[in-house]
Amino acid sequence: MDDKLKEVYSPAQFKKLGYELVDMLSTYLENAQQETIPANNYFDPADQFRYWKNYQLNPDLPTSLFKDIIDRSIQIHHPKYMGHQVCAPAPIGALASLVSSVLNNGQAIYEMGGSATAMEKVVVDLMVNKVGYDSHGDGFLTSGGTLGNLTALLTARQQAVNGDVWENGLGEQLGVMVSAEAHYSVDRAVRVMGLGAKGIIKIPAGKNFSMQTDLLDEYYEKAKKDGIRVIAVVGCAPSTSTGMHDDLEAIGRFCQQRKCWFHVDGAHGGAAVFSNKYKPLLKGIEQADSIVIDGHKMLMTPALITFVLYKNKHNSFATFRQKAEYLLDISGEEEWYNGAKRTMECTKLMMGMKFYAILKIHGEEVFGQYVTLMYDLGKTFAEIIAQNPNFELALMPDTNIVCFRWVKNGLSTNEINVINARIRETLLRENEFYVVQTSLNNLVYMRTTLMNPFTNEIHLKQLLSKIEAVALEIYK
Ligand SMILES: *Cc1c(COP(=O)(O)O)cnc(C)c1O
Repeated sequence: MDDKLKEVYSPAQFKKLGYELVDMLSTYLENAQQETIPANNYFDPADQFRYWKNYQLNPDLPTSLFKDIIDRSIQIHHPKYMGHQVCAPAPIGALASLVSSVLNNGQAIYEMGGSATAMEKVVVDLMVNKVGYDSHGDGFLTSGGTLGNLTALLTARQQAVNGDVWENGLGEQLGVMVSAEAHYSVDRAVRVMGLGAKGIIKIPAGKNFSMQTDLLDEYYEKAKKDGIRVIAVVGCAPSTSTGMHDDLEAIGRFCQQRKCWFHVDGAHGGAAVFSNKYKPLLKGIEQADSIVIDGHKMLMTPALITFVLYKNKHNSFATFRQKAEYLLDISGEEEWYNGAKRTMECTKLMMGMKFYAILKIHGEEVFGQYVTLMYDLGKTFAEIIAQNPNFELALMPDTNIVCFRWVKNGLSTNEINVINARIRETLLRENEFYVVQTSLNNLVYMRTTLMNPFTNEIHLKQLLSKIEAVALEIYK
């Protein structure tokens, strides 16, 4: 072997650099928690690209590469990170990710990842039980909620057409009904399935931004008249922009009557099955034919890890039933241990191991503690906003997603929209806080998702003061 290749695989070098890296990452965690670094390090895309294109590595200190990456990244472990719904992962989960990267067990077939496959079954079984399915329930892990929603809707389609679509393609116009407030991945999944614009039927959301379930019958009948066979209804638990939950019981009843597939997109909020306090938000989830829950959102696990759960185990094997004899057993047996039979992926990360490690090392109760703490903080923040005359709360939140805007008497709607968008832009560039922006009924809101257990009331009050100061600068 070439000396260069020997060096690439050198265990001694791995050890040396690994120690340096773990030191560096624990310093990062400490700095973020202690707020001695800013929450973000924003650069314009062109600057960021130029930097990495011209980057010169110090050959005597290879891990300086990682230091530079940390310094030019958003710091999700920082208490003033309050933006998108990606969790600050439990560090033990990150160590498990390292094991996954070193072992690189592909998991497509059992022999290529025996431990990881069995661990996946352990964590999926736990989740099946948590959502309230009986012994017929089952599921698997996949790479993200987007792929999870697509996979579950493919199962719904397969079931609706008795598997025919693999051989003959689609012979009729099918449709999926979902709240107008749903995450865009549902819309994308329906179009990927070839159902076109006609196939995605958006049910208007009511004042509280959840699906107006009393309109389901009307939209169903209208679709039927237009020649569309509705095969599934998707419930949001919760929707992404506002974090509000659809009435899953009502959707479940409707699906039962109409014999439609009932899918719950619980990418964010499905995690509340671990919280005694917030579990009631998911009432009716056990009626769903399929459920998606992200581990990398509200379950403290490094991305990506998504649970796709089925009420009826057989359905989980129906999605991709096709001939791939070289890889899969053609007997058609329902083998839980040959992952690729049920997932879009062939090679898949050892993702279950990350969740399993958190579960074994910290115990199941931490998941509930985390969800309860963050959802409680959402309520606290909403109350703080509601008491401040310079702000308007979009609505009382169900979860840790809180939308609000700066307001002032005498300004037009448009002026307030422009100022709020500029406030958010200023916050982004100043790096102290990270919040995002959304638009609800044509009004611009700032949107926070409180993902970090180190965020407290003081940080939230500091955010509002900061916004008031920025608004004053813009407005004067
Ligand atoms: C985040 C989210 C998704 C997408 O999940 P990814 O894991 O980012 O692919 C889908 N639906 C909802 C409700 C979400 O919040």
